[in-house]
Amino acid sequence: MKILFCCSEAYPLAKTGGLGDVGGALPRALLKQGVQVKLVLPGYSVALANAKPNGLKLLNELEILGETVRIWQSRLAGSRVTVWFIDHKTFSSREGGLYGDELGVDWHDNAWRFYVYCKVAELIACNEAGLDWKADVVHCHDWQTGLIPALLNEREHRPKTVFTIHNLAYRGLFDQATFHALQLPTHWWHHESVEFWGEFSYLKAGLVYSDRVTTVSPSYAQEIQTPDFGCGLEGVLEQRKRHLTGIVNGIDDKVWNPGTDTHLSCHYNRRSLSKKQLNKTALQKELGLATTPDTLLLGFIGRLVEQKGLAILIPALEQFLAQTDAQFVALGSGQQEYETALLELAAKFPQQVKIYIGYDEGVSHRIEAGVDVFLMPSLFEPCGLNQMYSQRYGTLPLCHYVGGLRDTVVNLSDSQLEGYTQGSLGVDNIDETGFLFCDATATSLLATLNKAYICYQNTPLWTKMQKNGMAQDFSWGVSSQRYVDLYESLLKEND
Ligand code: ADP
Repeated sequence: MKILFCCSEAYPLAKTGGLGDVGGALPRALLKQGVQVKLVLPGYSVALANAKPNGLKLLNELEILGETVRIWQSRLAGSRVTVWFIDHKTFSSREGGLYGDELGVDWHDNAWRFYVYCKVAELIACNEAGLDWKADVVHCHDWQTGLIPALLNEREHRPKTVFTIHNLAYRGLFDQATFHALQLPTHWWHHESVEFWGEFSYLKAGLVYSDRVTTVSPSYAQEIQTPDFGCGLEGVLEQRKRHLTGIVNGIDDKVWNPGTDTHLSCHYNRRSLSKKQLNKTALQKELGLATTPDTLLLGFIGRLVEQKGLAILIPALEQFLAQTDAQFVALGSGQQEYETALLELAAKFPQQVKIYIGYDEGVSHRIEAGVDVFLMPSLFEPCGLNQMYSQRYGTLPLCHYVGGLRDTVVNLSDSQLEGYTQGSLGVDNIDETGFLFCDATATSLLATLNKAYICYQNTPLWTKMQKNGMAQDFSWGVSSQRYVDLYESLLKEND
């Protein structure tokens, strides 16, 4: 089975968030399942530089709408996964972010950049790019790849297509003039095709024209069929519901393993959990916080955007930190208003709060290992990875009951906590791993922070919950098998 895996990010070559983690890990997991998988990535300057140590070979040169495009081949570090880079100058000759500049402003030519990427991926899939390889299934991810299923759909003979939604909020919207400039088929300008309220959407193209649509958790697959979460596309998704499933993301358990993590000063696992404490002390020291072992240390890592629930997190923390001696560390970058609000929180509680504005893999691993509770109050969360990393690291996640967070965290209820605290319930047989709150409000979050605070005082209960989390299997084994099953079922439709 030959799979062309089209994703605009793949760790460690290019990553801005969870999409990059999946783009790096799922192809490796598929290869392990015996699937012949080729990863197609835009030839960003940063990605080509990162690939260089594994060798870069020029395979072919094509012309797309009068512009030169090169295809380079490399390998995903530490694996046998072949990577094909689509190198157009708007990718390879540009410094800055993958999708925009340092200030977060989208590149003006994103429609063009990702059209070129999609067009070349289509040609590769159909063995028309001179690579002597043809796909059985093309697996596309998020809006950047949305035109691929649509372009393939124009053909009589074509591979099957799967489109995975990692985040419906990014719809890849562009205006009508761009649609014409790209010389896209005129019959696509229709509300049952790619047109979306006077613009056109790359994401919608993927949703409408792929043979199967998946999302990265079962709960999110349900939620996006409703107006609250559907971003205006709930009607399209409702229409496609017979072909829509949710497959929860796995995590790269080599990169995220507290037993071997190169970013940690002290390794530990379920049996040597007490050593997690040394990572907490090291983190407190690194951040300049008091190295008190019994102080509850809370953490947050993420893109500082509305989705991540900062508008409820910051007021809830303001009250919680005033009432308790808890400490808080955040790592992230994004919208100015949230960066400022976090820095103001640190200014208000200088002994308790440290904010790290920026992007840093090492710090993110040390936060996962060092904190007691990881906060994810996301308003919506297609899957989320940090709550899974947290559980692997013996850190209890505290999350909004939404999307993938619902599917991967087992909540400790108020009545259970009361029972364990009063000694009327024993902790031996419990399977809870964290805390979930239902209403996306600061009040509800604060109440759950208080619950975690009480729970933290109960060492046997806390330790059992840590160990429960560490025993979860979040590896890609099960989920990659589900994708293989999906590809196989699609191919059977040919017979
Ligand atoms: P999303 O894809 O919405 O950004 P996820 O939870 O699915 O959210 O994945 C986010 C990934 O990006 C995680 O691996 C997280 O640790 C990482 N990440 C986000 N912000 C930062 C940052 N500032 N520094 C380091 N890693 C970050």
